[in-house]
Amino acid sequence: MSLSDNDCTRRWFLSLGMKGAALAFLSGCSLDKQYVAYNACGYPKASTAPPAGAASGAGAANGKRSVCSTAPAKHIVAPEGYFVHEAAPMESVPRLAQTYGVSEKEIYLANSLKPGEAICPGRELLIPHPKQYKNIVPVYRNDKWQYIVVHHTAGETGKAITIDQAHRDRGFIDGLGYHFLVDNGSLGKGNGQLEVAPRWVKQEDGAHCKAGGMNHVGIGVSLVGNFNNDLPSQAQLHTASLLVATLAKYYKIPPGNIIGHRQAPGAHTDCPGTRFPWQTFEASLRKNFMTT
Ligand SMILES: [Zn+2]
Repeated sequence: MSLSDNDCTRRWFLSLGMKGAALAFLSGCSLDKQYVAYNACGYPKASTAPPAGAASGAGAANGKRSVCSTAPAKHIVAPEGYFVHEAAPMESVPRLAQTYGVSEKEIYLANSLKPGEAICPGRELLIPHPKQYKNIVPVYRNDKWQYIVVHHTAGETGKAITIDQAHRDRGFIDGLGYHFLVDNGSLGKGNGQLEVAPRWVKQEDGAHCKAGGMNHVGIGVSLVGNFNNDLPSQAQLHTASLLVATLAKYYKIPPGNIIGHRQAPGAHTDCPGTRFPWQTFEASLRKNFMTT
């Protein structure tokens, strides 16, 4: 589906802080503009031919920089008081403004961007005088979501850009198969940082769990790490439980429908890992469900 103006007027943002969820309404259609800009950056939709030089849809992202209207600025040295943020796929200035507690205008000015201008994934953006860091969860009215499926990425490091590419390489033409990713502090991302995947912003089916038809009805939440070997960090569990509690409450998903990948009917996997601490996670979930 594509986002319509009607969808835009119903878009709400939940910001997750240490004290729970606060609700803020984001007016305007900035994400729609970002959606257009995102495609202008060369990430093809399923029906779009891959850019020249790309071997297949899966490898099409190789050509994304060449058609980007704004060359990505790399390795910016931040002036004092500024923070450098690497843009994830389909991350928008309105969402960044909420994340860091600065105005959209300040971000546009600091980066010589025009509102709605393409922001290529991987571009480094200057955030002037950030006041906070909050994980932002956009929610959209949609009665299709009946399950939340928790995964691990099964790799020690990762972030939305790299996993998006890995999934394209595996043949997922719409890229990153999850709806949300909870980072573990690797590859320059924060420990417990939440990345919202394009599939969520576009309210598309996931590509994370074929078993039980979960790709059509399940919100895919993945934590970076391999929890057959390691444990998720406290920060990851904190973010994941706040995220899942927020989603469960908003979409009226009962506790029994919050499952690990391996619990999906017909699944043959250890995901989210044999060491994933379900009891701790569920206790945290119950607590956050009561307080969000
Ligand atoms: Zn999985």
